Amino acid sequence: MHLILLKCDRCDRVLEAPDDLAGRKIECPACGDVNLVPAALAAPAQPGALSAIPAASPAKPATPDRAAAAGYPPAAGPEQPVMTLHPVTFRSRPFVTLIVLAALLVGAAGGVYFSLIAAQRDAVLASIASLLFIAAVLVILVWKVAARTERLEITSKRTVERKGLLSRATTEVLHSDIRNVQVTQTLGQRILRTGSLGLSSAAQDDVEIIMHNLPNPQGVKRVVDLYRPL
Ligand SMILES: [Zn+2]
Repeated sequence: MHLILLKCDRCDRVLEAPDDLAGRKIECPACGDVNLVPAALAAPAQPGALSAIPAASPAKPATPDRAAAAGYPPAAGPEQPVMTLHPVTFRSRPFVTLIVLAALLVGAAGGVYFSLIAAQRDAVLASIASLLFIAAVLVILVWKVAARTERLEITSKRTVERKGLLSRATTEVLHSDIRNVQVTQTLGQRILRTGSLGLSSAAQDDVEIIMHNLPNPQGVKRVVDLYRPL
């Protein structure tokens, strides 16, 4: 087994990779950027001649950069954030949302009416209406917090899924390893433009990202497709 030398895209540190990783990506231990391991011919003619070590991503990539052409951060060079997404809160449950919004309005209107406007002020009905309003607000807050704990981060080199408020579970897939991008939408989700996005990796059998209730999953798929080999 030979070692392939390459320079990190971001910090220029010289990295060593076993040649069976050629064509795959490795993470820089210094800065965390991910770098494409070039084919074995990249080994320097004279050992120690650092100037002969190519950058992980050549300045002029062999294939046109589809991401850059579409106006997104280029696939080559240092890793850059592309987009961060959270699941939708209301469109994922349209009917319950309508009920909660109705409770919010009825509670607010009833509270004002029975405590301030009605000829016969009624403290009991005013309290019930206020409780209805508070319950609806709490439900919306819980939905919002739950949605913030789930996050899909797309960079120019990988997609990372983070889940959980206290114990964070992280799954990541390198774009160069993505074998399949799948969007699943029910008819209702297609109308409301939400759905599930699934990424499966060719490198690790069981590394899969599945995120439900994403906004505009077709658009997200198009962005991921710009960065993966097709
Ligand atoms: Zn680095």
